[in-house]
Amino acid sequence: MQRQVRTRYAPSPTGYVHIGNLRTALYEYLIARSHGGKFILRIEDTDQERLVEGAVEAIYRTLKLCGMQHDEGPDIGGPYAPYVQSERKGTYKPFAEELVQKGHAYYCFCSKERLDQLRADADAKGETFMYDRHCLGLSKEEIQKKLDAGEPYVIRQKMPREGTTTFDDTVYGSITVENAMLEDQILLKSDGLPTYNFANVIDDHLMGITHVVRGSEYLSSTPKYNLLYQAFGWEIPTYIHLPLIVKPDGSKISKRKGDAGFADLIQMGYLVEALLNYIALLGWSPDSNQEIFSLTELEKAFDIKRISKSPSAFDMEKLKWFNAEYIRAKTPEQFYELALPYLKEAVTAQGIDLFKVSRLLQDRTEVLTDIPSKVGFLNELCDYDLNIYVHKKMKTTFENSLDSLKAAVPVLEALENWNEQELHEKLLALVETLGIKNGQMLWPIRTAISGWEVTPGGAIEIADILGKAETLRRIGVGIERLEKVVQSA
Ligand code: GLU
Repeated sequence: MQRQVRTRYAPSPTGYVHIGNLRTALYEYLIARSHGGKFILRIEDTDQERLVEGAVEAIYRTLKLCGMQHDEGPDIGGPYAPYVQSERKGTYKPFAEELVQKGHAYYCFCSKERLDQLRADADAKGETFMYDRHCLGLSKEEIQKKLDAGEPYVIRQKMPREGTTTFDDTVYGSITVENAMLEDQILLKSDGLPTYNFANVIDDHLMGITHVVRGSEYLSSTPKYNLLYQAFGWEIPTYIHLPLIVKPDGSKISKRKGDAGFADLIQMGYLVEALLNYIALLGWSPDSNQEIFSLTELEKAFDIKRISKSPSAFDMEKLKWFNAEYIRAKTPEQFYELALPYLKEAVTAQGIDLFKVSRLLQDRTEVLTDIPSKVGFLNELCDYDLNIYVHKKMKTTFENSLDSLKAAVPVLEALENWNEQELHEKLLALVETLGIKNGQMLWPIRTAISGWEVTPGGAIEIADILGKAETLRRIGVGIERLEKVVQSA
């Protein structure tokens, strides 16, 4: 009988959730969902020195925001609880002792000083440090004596000296390493806690995990994990190591260098769905040309076989493109909801209908944080450069701009119902009467009432939003300023 597919996201709460973490979580989630399996959250906090406050909360928040609901985990429990490794402290030691008994592990009492010295010696010779198996030679009696005396110890995995170890990875294929290259890594630390290298194997086995997804940086340790599974006689899970995510120039993504993590990107105005969609495609491709996928669509389309092993480039420009697509696909009401916090902060002028403003912005926004820089003209009329009245394509000059503004004033003053439709009708009728081009009326008005060379929306939409009094006031300012240039010319 085929085992039920069980995947786990096993983050260490050592900092922020970066793009690589999120992709691992997403793929684990998709593998579980596409097979009708279970997605488990396990917190790997055995390296107590590296814990960062708030990191566990960030993990929960991220999963929740992304809609990747786990089936078992620290917060919701499950048949294999607890799901936090530090709460499973007692679990690992008996397994380490079992390995000692079976001859696959041994006690090591080497002091930190001794190990530091070995490391320094290796460095001096330009060699990679490998533990020299000093304690492997201890007799049973010596070991017992030290244990009885309460000497601190670790338990190390005993690697075979000869031969090779081969394992299969779904992405990278079959990989073989010389056993002589494998260090006798520590399984149980002197504080009684397991290392990541040990705990992940024990927990993946105990929790019935069938597919292990993680970054390719773990590939080199995988033969050691394989040897552990073999020593216990346990079934080896399907390994899925994911290629590194790099920047378009091939360099590593790093928080220290200011590269954004998940939370930063949300803060920067990216939509969760767009981010997830983009991240899904970092290393995986569908068998069609489809680019836009909802999480539900991904759950159906995802196929492990289509994960690539070449490094994936995280390209902000491409992400921006996805984000803009998602923004455009929103209903006006949904976009308004998203834009509102930004609009509330950016639009300080009274009486502005923010929904109308959001309508102008939807097609012109790539990321939500673009919004404030596009609406400042609504608050006040700046001291703009008059040259923006002169537009080649619109065929406008200082003179005809002035004429148009002057002609528009009585028409606008006479408008009873100040709305887009009326503005449109009356201004175009005026254009007709004057025998000029639309642009020769609308460009000067847009310029006069915004003071900006580029605005979301044109003269009619902006006038409608600003209202009658403010529109006329701004046109008045434009006339005054244009008169001065025209007179002095
Ligand atoms: N705790 C490891 C990490 O956060 C997880 C590696 C794995 O998934 O096995 O890097």
